[in-house]
Amino acid sequence: MWRWAGNEALARPPLRVPPAYDKVNAMIDLCLLGTGALMPLPERRLAALLVRVQGRLLLIDCGEGTQVAIRESGFSLARIDAICITHFHADHISGLPGLLLTMGTSGRTKPVRIIGPEHTQKVVRCLCVIAQTLPFELQFEEIGGDGYLGDFQGARLQAFALEHTIPCFGFRLTLDRPGKFDPARARAAGIPTDFWGQLQRGETAQDEAGQTIYTPEMVLGPARPGLSIAYCTDTRPTESIRDAIRFADLLICEGTYGDPAKAEMARQYGHQTFEEAARLATPAEVKRLLLTHFSPSMPDPEPFVPLARQIFPNTSAGHDIEHISLRFAP
Ligand SMILES: [Zn+2]
Ligand SMILES: [Zn+2]
Repeated sequence: MWRWAGNEALARPPLRVPPAYDKVNAMIDLCLLGTGALMPLPERRLAALLVRVQGRLLLIDCGEGTQVAIRESGFSLARIDAICITHFHADHISGLPGLLLTMGTSGRTKPVRIIGPEHTQKVVRCLCVIAQTLPFELQFEEIGGDGYLGDFQGARLQAFALEHTIPCFGFRLTLDRPGKFDPARARAAGIPTDFWGQLQRGETAQDEAGQTIYTPEMVLGPARPGLSIAYCTDTRPTESIRDAIRFADLLICEGTYGDPAKAEMARQYGHQTFEEAARLATPAEVKRLLLTHFSPSMPDPEPFVPLARQIFPNTSAGHDIEHISLRFAP
């Protein structure tokens, strides 16, 4: 049954020991579930992102109808282990009770992590008055004043402050990559081949007494670039965001308005135009910019994409149920 933590002190953002996983061939799969702001439309679901790492799923945001989009994506609700909430506007959280109920009626018993701004536990508790019979535990991790650093399936999960009309956070997920394995060094050090696999994965090797006998540094070259994605909505552009998203392989960023004539409106409501998103991506040196969170007043974002491309060429407008896979460079 669902347990409330009540007034107990919330656990600080944990730094977990990453589970062993195949760091050699790892990849991140994403599905941009929706691209809409404010309200779901017949042809456009609300902005949310599903991320798969090592076979398990992380969901970022859960507005009305997100569980339907997840079904459309082909991913399984049963594999969602963590849900990040950017902020408490309805288009980012109101789908949560229904999603959790469906996960419960699908037989889930494993706990679900919920990561979000301060008061996430209280807000989710209020929303879930209409979903009181969950057969699994909710584990809350609230983002403190000094940010958040946790892990998801061995990937680093970070939250960083955005600038919106209420407290709001972006998320970055990074899969680190160990250096290249050098068999010649392993042979020269007399390391039996039985240990090569775990050293290659960045793990230490121990003898029967638990003493470390070989370390990855003995056989691995310098660390290589990993994979990194950043998700930023809803927000104005700020310098601190630029630092938080630096060198990301993929930046999924809000561009609520495409028309530059809506720039003042964007400022007023704590949002961005396409051009502002592109100006954020350029100095941050991200590899690719995918725009999302489109205003219902903009039925087709495509005509405005060239404006952003003049500033950051590798820009595209996201589509609902858009699948993207990121792999380590060969
Ligand atoms: Zn929004
Ligand atoms: Zn908002």
